[in-house]
Amino acid sequence: MIPSSRDELLRAPLFHTPRNPFRETSALESHTDGGLLIRAGRVAGCGDYEALRNAHPDVPTVDMRGGFLLPGFIDAHTHFPQLRVLGGLGRSLLDWLEQCALPEEARMADHSHACRIARGFVHALASHGTTTALVFGAHFAPATAALFEAGETAGLRIAAGQVLSDRLLRPELHQKPEQAYRENSLLIERFHQRGRSMYAVTPRFALSTSEAMLEVCQTLLKEHQGLLLQTHLNESVQEIAEVARLFPWASDYLAVYERFGLSRPNAVMAHDVHPSDSQLDRLAASGTSVAHCPCSNAALGSGLFPLRRHVNAGVRCALGTDVGGGTGFGLLKEGLQAYLLQRIAPDGMLLDAGHLLYLATLAGAEALGLSGETGDFRTGKFADFVYLRPPADSPLAAVLERAQSPERVLAAIFTLAGAESVREVRVEGSIVFRAATAEEA
Ligand SMILES: [Zn+2]
Repeated sequence: MIPSSRDELLRAPLFHTPRNPFRETSALESHTDGGLLIRAGRVAGCGDYEALRNAHPDVPTVDMRGGFLLPGFIDAHTHFPQLRVLGGLGRSLLDWLEQCALPEEARMADHSHACRIARGFVHALASHGTTTALVFGAHFAPATAALFEAGETAGLRIAAGQVLSDRLLRPELHQKPEQAYRENSLLIERFHQRGRSMYAVTPRFALSTSEAMLEVCQTLLKEHQGLLLQTHLNESVQEIAEVARLFPWASDYLAVYERFGLSRPNAVMAHDVHPSDSQLDRLAASGTSVAHCPCSNAALGSGLFPLRRHVNAGVRCALGTDVGGGTGFGLLKEGLQAYLLQRIAPDGMLLDAGHLLYLATLAGAEALGLSGETGDFRTGKFADFVYLRPPADSPLAAVLERAQSPERVLAAIFTLAGAESVREVRVEGSIVFRAATAEEA
């Protein structure tokens, strides 16, 4: 991490969505000759370059024309132990968990292995332009600590927690509820609100957590201020049937979490592919957010996400990559996949580039309770951003030569840009990733 203390005026075309395009028109703001003024790690101004330069003639300009500035991406759902199971195609959720994910999760008991995977995972986030992520840790406390430490070393904003389960997975992944309480209390004391880290209470899903374990989650949330909660909800039809069998007293899947006070603001539930209207209304009323993971939903055949029903019910939605059920770390790819699936979903929404940028940035900040700090370039927010510049001979570079409008440019970025276009990533103005390029070598 390279600290940045001096004021800078970055000059490049820029895009951000300071408003929610599902609720307001003109949510996308862009400046073709843009300026982003950074002071002490925060945005001190965002607008047209010439106006900012005239207002701040003493601040040095960094000329970044040829590329684009976007707010840092926010991944609202991902699993660090699953880095190496990406690409396990051809299975459905419960079979995939058993055959691909859980054996790899068990390897996190080996601490040196966990440290290595944690470093690789955090590097992958940064190199794809992700500056903030809500991450499922490991079932083991030391491996979860390794993730926080890797995140701090890299300078990323990581919210994470030890994954809690006490049944139906495999014995080495289970904790006793008392042990979970003890280990979580220590992790919270050590990492919650230390630097850029935040702690998220993380019951894996209702299937693998007894009522006693869910009660531990409730207790932890009561005992500590500002914790997040993350879990899974309504991902596949088979999973939903199993939850109904295991919790016969619950009217539906969400009711299991509600019984223990887990549906609440700063709670992020991944997937929700198969909700009832009642569950959508209750999610909205409680302020719970949903992490939509379209690559994962398609790869595991979980189903088509009913985005319009979420939006109409007033449920806040953000984007998650769901590594490793998903297909990689890129929030741009995830945004494109959200667009593609909405094109073919019954009653799908026609999303534009502004919707995609919002879902990949500010929506995630809102879900994590960080919308006052990050997610767009409004003055006062942290200078968390990604600088994209397509390789000179790439299809994206060719498309951008003749793209006429900012919306068209942003749509092309979502369609064609991958990690090869990510040149620099900063959190609070400090560089957390910089690509070594052939042109600079
Ligand atoms: Zn997941």
